[in-house]
Amino acid sequence: SFAFTEPSGPDAPHKQTYATVAGTDLKITGQKSFVTGGAHASFYAALVNVEGDDEGDSGPAMVIIDKDSPGLEIAREFRSMEGGDHVELKFNGVIVPMRNVIGSIGEGMPRAMGNIGEERLQVSALACGMGLWTVEHITERLMQGHRSGSRLADREGVRLRYADLRIELYAARSALYRTARLAEVAESVEEIMNEATATKVFCTEMIGHVVDTAIQLAGGQSLIQGEPLEKLYRRARSLRFTGGASDILRLSIARGKFDFGAGRL
Ligand SMILES: Cc1cc2nc3c(=O)[nH]c(=O)nc-3n(C[C@H](O)[C@H](O)[C@H](O)COP(=O)(O)OP(=O)(O)OC[C@H]3O[C@@H](n4cnc5c(N)ncnc54)[C@H](O)[C@@H]3O)c2cc1C
Repeated sequence: SFAFTEPSGPDAPHKQTYATVAGTDLKITGQKSFVTGGAHASFYAALVNVEGDDEGDSGPAMVIIDKDSPGLEIAREFRSMEGGDHVELKFNGVIVPMRNVIGSIGEGMPRAMGNIGEERLQVSALACGMGLWTVEHITERLMQGHRSGSRLADREGVRLRYADLRIELYAARSALYRTARLAEVAESVEEIMNEATATKVFCTEMIGHVVDTAIQLAGGQSLIQGEPLEKLYRRARSLRFTGGASDILRLSIARGKFDFGAGRL
């Protein structure tokens, strides 16, 4: 499982997970939260900040940590609303051999983000797939009869909201296909990182709005537990966090331009 996110909230430690060098080992202290599938994993790939001495290497590193390592504790198991199961991990001076560092010390961020471009595209595609299903579903619902005697599909106000769903979905799918085409011809995923990031923000916000509007048009019964739109609503919500919270991704797009004069969109 991937252990990247630090705990948040008032009780969260102020210092991020860190490691000190002890001979040929690292000694890791800290906490990670939201480690998906962590209860069933046999090891964790964790981002830690290595505090080297003056001569030693220092900086972020991705480290493989065996689940059975002494000092490693699953402090909490929890579920999120879309059904995912996660754990909070505590590292109480966990000793890990230096050979468990993926790549080199200092390369933690690029290593952790190695697949993030693909992941952002996958999440975007998932959001678009959910959007297609939702629009098809609500189309059928609106064309069915309604207790008022006429179909909801015949009301102009409903048609306006409905058209917005189709427009938003079309725009999101267009962005997704364009970014996927760019990814296909790119040498590396870094080349299309801004496009993948923008697409992820747009598609995941699109599906949040599309499912929310579909629920409003379908009526309160669509919120009954077990109803498909109720499930999709919970699932859609988590997508604006997985692979990066929307506003953090916005900041990274802006930082690329303002601070590094790089990145295209
Ligand atoms: C279903 C699910 C599965 C997940 N799986 C994993 C996993 O397997 N491994 C893992 O490591 N993590 C996982 N996460 C955690 C996820 O990566 C984080 O939720 C996400 O990165 C945001 O971090 P955070 O929750 O700590 O929010 P915070 O960093 O506390 O941010 C909260 C909000 O504050 C605002 N904010 C924060 N910083 C800034 C800033 N600098 N400028 C402006 N606004 C800001 C944003 O609006 C942001 O949404 C998962 C999350 C979910 C919901």
